[in-house]
Amino acid sequence: MQRCPSCNARLNDEWNCHRCGANLGLLMYINRQAEDHYRLAVSAFITGDAKSMLFHAKRACALRQTPERLGLLACAAILSYDFDLGVSIIGRLSEDRTKLRDTTG
Ligand SMILES: [Zn+2]
Repeated sequence: MQRCPSCNARLNDEWNCHRCGANLGLLMYINRQAEDHYRLAVSAFITGDAKSMLFHAKRACALRQTPERLGLLACAAILSYDFDLGVSIIGRLSEDRTKLRDTTG
């Protein structure tokens, strides 16, 4: 989390926003949990444990979705033979990229 979700101030690692005072502790905790699950999913990929990779990738995306986490989840789904999930995520990522390209020219 780089910006305060309340006032959009640039954040450092403090638990309260320096501008608006919003308590960011829970959000920071959730974000760190998502990062941990993302790293565990990558580690599971490296060791060839597709089941663990899928579990951690799902948790990471459930806690906080980013394009990188969704991409990892798509890979984990395909490696786990859940092709419907993998293809649906890839389609969603593709739509998001198209929308982004259309809005930025
Ligand atoms: Zn703020």
